[in-house]
Parts: sequence; C-alpha cells; structure tokens
Amino acid sequence: MSNIVIFATQIATVLSFIIAVFFLYRLLVKTKDATIQLLQEKVTGLEKQLDDAKAAGPDVLAKNLSDRVQLYEQELERLSKDDKKNASAIKEKEGQLRNVKTELSYLEGQLEQAQVVMAEFFCPYCKSPMITREYRSQMVEYDGHEIDDDSEYVEFECGLSLEDSHELSPCPEKEGTVLESKI
Ligand SMILES: [Zn+2]
Repeated sequence: MSNIVIFATQIATVLSFIIAVFFLYRLLVKTKDATIQLLQEKVTGLEKQLDDAKAAGPDVLAKNLSDRVQLYEQELERLSKDDKKNASAIKEKEGQLRNVKTELSYLEGQLEQAQVVMAEFFCPYCKSPMITREYRSQMVEYDGHEIDDDSEYVEFECGLSLEDSHELSPCPEKEGTVLESKI
C-alpha cells in the first residue's frame, strides 16, 4: 500500500470523525434548545398559576373551602334527618308489629276457647260436624211406674250417634276403617 493511500485513508477517517462530532454537536444543541423551550413553557405555566392564585387570593380560597364545608354539613344534616326518619319509621313498624302480635295472641286465645266450646259439636274421633241434636222424651216403665224419660240424641256426619253419651252407632274412624286419613 502506497503512502498516498494511507494518507488519504487517514484524512477520510479524520473527516468522518469531524463530521460525526459536528452532527453530535448539532444534536446536542437541538436537544438543549428543546429542553430550554420546555423549561420556559413550564415557567410560563407556573407564572400563570401564580397569577391565578394571586387573583384568587386567600379570601377566595377560604370561601371555596367554607363553601365545601357547608356542602358537607348540609349533606350530613340531610343524612342524619334520613337516619331519624328511618329510625322513626322502624319504631313505628315495630309498634305496629307489637300490636299485631298482641292481636294475634288474643285471637289465638279466643280460638282456643272457641275450640273448647265447639268440641262437643264435632265427632271426638274424626272431627266430623254434628248434624242432629235433639231431646227425646218417652214414657218408660220404671219400677212398676211409667216415668217420663228425657234423653239427648246426637248424630254426627260420620255416622257416630249417641244417646245420653251411650254410643248407638260408632264412628268409622274409631273402628279403624278410615285409618289412612290419620297416616
Ligand atoms: Zn267420627
């Protein structure tokens, strides 16, 4: 390789280095410019914010805050009113419930009493209703004399009939023929 070629290669290397440095410098300057511009924009924004704050002043800020507090207070008042309203509604419902319970236990008592009273009007075995109840009067001979004998005749729908508590015909359930109704 001749000296001229070596020299030319060295020149080219140096030149390309200089060009690279130059581009890097340009890039650096550009980036710097962009950074400076960005910072300037930020400062401008902050200045604007400062101006706004100055214009608003502490009085305005305090007013904003107090407005907000008032808003919260109003909300709390509303909520507490709702709470009271709900509480009174619940109390009212509880009272109504108590009344209904009292009424119910009274009715239960009445029903129990009625069942006791009504018991004789139903067959003691199958609870069929009474269909006949009559008092029979007949003359019977007793100890050589004719006396008037009164008796009570009772008949139930199921077929049970009684005369002065003596069974004349039985309830089918008592005999076990209608047992399936009990199972
Ligand atoms: Zn019966």
